[in-house]
Amino acid sequence: MKKIEMVNLVEQYHKIKDEVDSAISQVIESSAFINGLQVKSFADNLGKYLSNGAKSEIFVIPCGNGTDALQISLMALGLKAGDEVIVPAFTYVASAEAIALLGLKPVMVDVDYDTFNVTIDNIKRGFSNRTKAIIPVHLFGQSCDMEPILEFAKEHNLFVIEDNAQAIGADYTFSNGTKVKTGTMGSFGCTSFFPSKNLGCFGDGGAIITKDSNLALNAKMIANHGQKIKYYHSVIGCNSRLDTLQAAVLNVKLKYLDEYCRKRNEAARYYTQKLKELDPNGEFLVTPFENKNSTHVYHQYTLKIKKSYRDKLKEHLAKQEIPSMIYYPLPLNEQDAFKGIAVAGEDLKVSKELAFSVLSLPIHTELTTQTQDIIIDAIKSFASKFVV
Ligand SMILES: *Cc1c(COP(=O)(O)O)cnc(C)c1O
Repeated sequence: MKKIEMVNLVEQYHKIKDEVDSAISQVIESSAFINGLQVKSFADNLGKYLSNGAKSEIFVIPCGNGTDALQISLMALGLKAGDEVIVPAFTYVASAEAIALLGLKPVMVDVDYDTFNVTIDNIKRGFSNRTKAIIPVHLFGQSCDMEPILEFAKEHNLFVIEDNAQAIGADYTFSNGTKVKTGTMGSFGCTSFFPSKNLGCFGDGGAIITKDSNLALNAKMIANHGQKIKYYHSVIGCNSRLDTLQAAVLNVKLKYLDEYCRKRNEAARYYTQKLKELDPNGEFLVTPFENKNSTHVYHQYTLKIKKSYRDKLKEHLAKQEIPSMIYYPLPLNEQDAFKGIAVAGEDLKVSKELAFSVLSLPIHTELTTQTQDIIIDAIKSFASKFVV
């Protein structure tokens, strides 16, 4: 039997091998490894993709990785040491890390049990007169409910930086029916092209997204040693670039992003249907919740396992060589690195509970229903043994 993996990048590559190989060899033949033509063309193509056909231009500044994108965005907004930035406690470390590294103060707030995302109510609890920005993270592939967050930010003059590393390709629908791509709603959107992300390259990569031409110039300058003109440095910047080789790969894969999102959705739908049959009343597990105002691109398919069965189920699956992952085992406010830096706006009960109960199953563009049946059967055999 074929080994089951969380993510299968090899088979995905084999389907587009000719296109990718030819794009890569073109870069090698040009030997323009840094800032080659493909970097600019990928930025333009991604900007067009993210505009959802609307006229307004979307600027894309490619950079070294998703964490850099967050750091550069924060730098480009001119925040001052001690300014507070609201960030969810239940997420990947990168957003809080970038805040803390710049001497800003992460204020960690709780998330919603159903969607895993921050809501306006969570954000309000972390708000103070020192708050300067909010970083909503579109976790696992679904947009935060952005409309009330954007309204609140406008009312209080706050910057919004969307961490879109897990949700590229998702659509958010406003109450007036306008449909936009995640990552295009805030002052900045940040994304990552880490190989296992929904739009992944063959190494590290990231991008900063904005509709504001001045912010775009600022971010571009900061990512390039703070210079607009070579060897004339206006501000302290950093060096963060997307390699031409990675841009060439991404130019090919961007064409397939919608198809990849569709395949992930099909796999998710199959899991949910079968798992609900197994446990119709949700006594043992809770399948992912899909919010009406966002499409889901299922970067992760994450269950909530009840009654402390999570670790035992993970072990049971592992015994049958079925991988599963815990994203994330510890809320950020409880991490050693953030002790003393973090200002938790409240008692972060939901984050704690999620860290204790989440389990992500394999999901990727090459997942077959046959493989899913093996995984579902293994969950079924666990449930029949332990859960009455
Ligand atoms: C992957 C990820 C990042 C960081 O991206 P890198 O390219 O690995 O630096 C940031 N935020 C979230 C939510 C992520 O999932």
